Amino acid sequence: MTETNDASQPVLEATDVRKSFGKLDVLKGISLTLMKGESVCIMGPSGGGKSTFLRSINCLEMIDTGTIRVCGEEMGYRTTATGRRQLSERAIAVQRRQTGMVFQQFNLFFTMTALDNVASGLVHVYGVNREDAREQAYEQLKLVGIADKAESYPIQLSGGQQQRVAIARAIAVKPKLMLFDEPTSALDPEMVQEVLDVIFNLRKAGMTMILVTHEVGFAKKAADRVMLIADGVVAEQASPQRFFENPQSERTQQFLSRVL
Ligand code: ADP
Ligand code: MG
Repeated sequence: MTETNDASQPVLEATDVRKSFGKLDVLKGISLTLMKGESVCIMGPSGGGKSTFLRSINCLEMIDTGTIRVCGEEMGYRTTATGRRQLSERAIAVQRRQTGMVFQQFNLFFTMTALDNVASGLVHVYGVNREDAREQAYEQLKLVGIADKAESYPIQLSGGQQQRVAIARAIAVKPKLMLFDEPTSALDPEMVQEVLDVIFNLRKAGMTMILVTHEVGFAKKAADRVMLIADGVVAEQASPQRFFENPQSERTQQFLSRVL
C-alpha cells in the first residue's frame, strides 16, 4: 500500500465525482482536495448530495465516474464475472484503515459496552488481540472524556455520550481522514457542545476532516474552508469569513438567509 508521510500529497483528492441513483443525478461533478490537517465544513440543503459524497469517500457507495484518492491510493473498481461493477477489496481495505466516519445516528453496537464498541474496530480492522484492543480503546475513551462510562451499554448513555463513543471508535484505528456527517443533528441542544468540543480538539490535534454541519458558529471557528453543496454541485467554496459574510453565489445567499 502506498502510504507516505509526504506533506505535499493530498489526504483526499476527489475529482469530478458523479453518481446517480437510477434516474436521479445526485452528484454532478464534485471535486475536493484536502491537505493534511485541513478541515472543511460542508453545508447545504437537505437532499443536495452531502451524505452521498461522504459515503462515497468511505466506500459505502460506488461512484459512477470521477476519481477518489485517499492518501494517494485510488479507489479502484472491478467488474465481476457476471458483469457487475464492484469496489475492489483493496479499495475497501484502504478506506477502512485510512478513513473514519461518524454518522448522525450514532450507529453503535447495542449489545456491546462502550469499551467493546471502540475495541471491536481494532480487533476487526487491525487484528489487535482482545486485551490490547481493550486497553487502547480505554485510552480513546479517555480522549473523548468518557472513560468512566467504559462498561456502560449504549442504551445507558445520553446521545452526546453515545456520539463521543462513536467518535472514539472511529479514531481508534488512527485514520488519516475523518468524515463527520451531521454528528450533532440528532442531539438535544444541551449535548451539541460536548460533541463539538471533542471534534474541535481533534482538529487542534491536526486531524484532517470533513464535517457536514449546520452549526454556523462551529464552522466559523473550526473550518479552513466552507463549502456549499446543493443539487449535486459545489455552489461555493471559500474561507469561513468570505462564505458567511460575502458569499458569491446566489445559492449560498439563499441558503444562509434561512440558517443565519
Ligand atoms: P444530503 O445528505 O445532502 O441531505 P443525500 O446525499 O442524503 O443528501 O441525498 C441526495 C439525494 O439522493 C436525495 O434525493 C436522496 O433521496 C437520494 N438518495 C440517497 N441515497 C439513496 C439511495 N440509496 N437510493 C436512492 N436515492 C438515494
Ligand atoms: Mg445527509
